[in-house]
Amino acid sequence: MKNFKRYLVTSALPYANGPIHIGHLAGVYIPSDIYTRYLRLRGVDVISVCGSDEHGVPITLKARIEGVTPKEIVDRYHELNKKAFEDFGIAFDIYSRTSNKIHYDTASDFFLRLYNKGEFIEKTSNQYYDEEAGCFLADRYIVGTCPHCSNENAYGDQCEKCGTSLSPTDLINPKSTVSGSKPVLKETLHWYLPLDKYEPWLRKWILEDHREWKTNVYGQCKSWLDQGLQPRAVSRDLDWGVPVPVKNAEGKVLYVWFDAPIGYISATRELTEDWEKYWKDPETRMIHFIGKDNIVFHCIIFPAMLNADGSFILPDNVPANEFLNLESDKISTSRNWAVWLHEYLDDFPGKQDVLRYALCANAPETKDNDFTWKDFQARNNNELLAILGNFVNRALVLTNNYYGGKVPERGETGKYDKDVLAEIGKLKESVESNIESFRFREALKEAMNLARLGNKYLADTEPWKIVKTDPERVKTIMNIALQITASLSVICEPFLPFSMKKLRSWINYNEFKWIDAGNADLLPAGHTTSNPGLLFEKIEDEAIERQIEKLMLTKKANEAATAPAVPEKTSVSYDDFSKMDLRTATILEAEKVPKTTKLLKLKVDCGIDTRTIVSGIAEFFEPGSLIGRQILIIANLEPRKIKGIESKGMILCAEDKGGKLILVSPDGKTGNGSIVK
Ligand SMILES: [Zn+2]
Repeated sequence: MKNFKRYLVTSALPYANGPIHIGHLAGVYIPSDIYTRYLRLRGVDVISVCGSDEHGVPITLKARIEGVTPKEIVDRYHELNKKAFEDFGIAFDIYSRTSNKIHYDTASDFFLRLYNKGEFIEKTSNQYYDEEAGCFLADRYIVGTCPHCSNENAYGDQCEKCGTSLSPTDLINPKSTVSGSKPVLKETLHWYLPLDKYEPWLRKWILEDHREWKTNVYGQCKSWLDQGLQPRAVSRDLDWGVPVPVKNAEGKVLYVWFDAPIGYISATRELTEDWEKYWKDPETRMIHFIGKDNIVFHCIIFPAMLNADGSFILPDNVPANEFLNLESDKISTSRNWAVWLHEYLDDFPGKQDVLRYALCANAPETKDNDFTWKDFQARNNNELLAILGNFVNRALVLTNNYYGGKVPERGETGKYDKDVLAEIGKLKESVESNIESFRFREALKEAMNLARLGNKYLADTEPWKIVKTDPERVKTIMNIALQITASLSVICEPFLPFSMKKLRSWINYNEFKWIDAGNADLLPAGHTTSNPGLLFEKIEDEAIERQIEKLMLTKKANEAATAPAVPEKTSVSYDDFSKMDLRTATILEAEKVPKTTKLLKLKVDCGIDTRTIVSGIAEFFEPGSLIGRQILIIANLEPRKIKGIESKGMILCAEDKGGKLILVSPDGKTGNGSIVK
């Protein structure tokens, strides 16, 4: 393999419309972090860049649903995710964002260079336009009936029910999600990158020159190339994004897939004035860490863009992972089916390494994999605790007991001792070659084999049995056990940085490099170690059951949300309806009815009078939270005695599919007693 002078590691920019979950971590950020930490330990010149991807339709849609600006959405998730990555120990050199000015400049310049070189095709096409809202409708702003499965809520780019990818004009009865009106087709001008032009070059570059890429990546590229590439629009009619920097481009922005990968360049520029040596010197090795859904963008489209520009290097490898499922179900942000990183960090404080370990040990490197909380618990209790923690603890406790924490002299070594010492170096080399070929699961397994080796060595030599009769022999054994411990603290560092830092502080080993691992004399005789705490703690069943319970509640909520609505009741005459006296009222007092679980006694001002209403809503509301709320009541229901209290009227509530009651309130403040009709 070619020797490179420096490395540029990029990690897929997470979309700033939701929090980071374990699928993101297992697919992209843990592998990229292990790789980067390893290179740093080797003393290699490496930078790791990432940031928030802050453009695109899902963000503007979410903003519209929440009634806030897109900026508010991306600010919220950028801060949340940046902090979660930091707390989790993902060691980016920079976590930037594509809404920064430096990115606008970089992306605009990139577009202009290609534009001036004549690399784009300009084409007008008919696209749906919302006449009421006065805007073109991108993909997800249009819904309609899927021509394949008749799902009435298919999007302009995809039907989520049958999975077919669609174009907006495929939809039957298209409807704008902005105004609800029927959109019309209208001409619009866009710029296209002629991917077909780069096809022969891409075929050679990937299929011939990069046969070493992971088979899932290589296979997907081949299938794309074999289908034949088409020109792809690089602009969109939207008001959120990097404006297309040419004339006649009013209301047009760069399409998010065009601007997002340029975000890697902007982040590097933001990080260092020397950015060009990372992006333009062929002696830099660029590695893109991504999930499988991003393969086409990083292996075909972005390289075509870089090639069209001509001044940039290309990725040398794109080690994409497959997907991680959660408890046998696809992780989904919209269904809240995920383990969110920021929640994990709250629920398991100080246990970053446990999740790092469980996700790496079970990483979806070659196929989709499943995360289960039981597996997470077993990885901690049976591996981290029972193998790694146990070995380190034994080595340090015995050293403390026998020698007051001082590393003993290593005396004469026999064949077994020599074999064990040699094995440390072999395991280190195996970890190394696995990391370098992006086989992180295997690398972690080999790193753990070093702890297994240590356990076996102590179990075979049984120093505790011979310490009285053969103290010299025990010194040699303990010296070797401590050398294994020191090597472990380096070899496991890329995988378990928090625990290894703790371990190195116990063995007082602060100057360390990758190349030192495997050396049999890392801790000289007389060197001081301290009495350790525990590297890992047992995770009890209750903690796991709490997490499973949380997921079960999500599942129930999802089922309730998709359950069919209650059928319509038989019709009533308008006269019957108008007999009901519906009006607004404000709750003045609220208290529980003694000896009942469901009943609240409310005093309400309903405009005509102040009256008492007894309502069966106690399970859903704290009495105090109701005071001052404006609600709707039926005022003229016949009074009833409930638990000895006269109730005059009824509070209106909506009942969701899970049986939960939600108060019905006027949209804005109005006088009490306003008639509802
Ligand atoms: Zn469909």
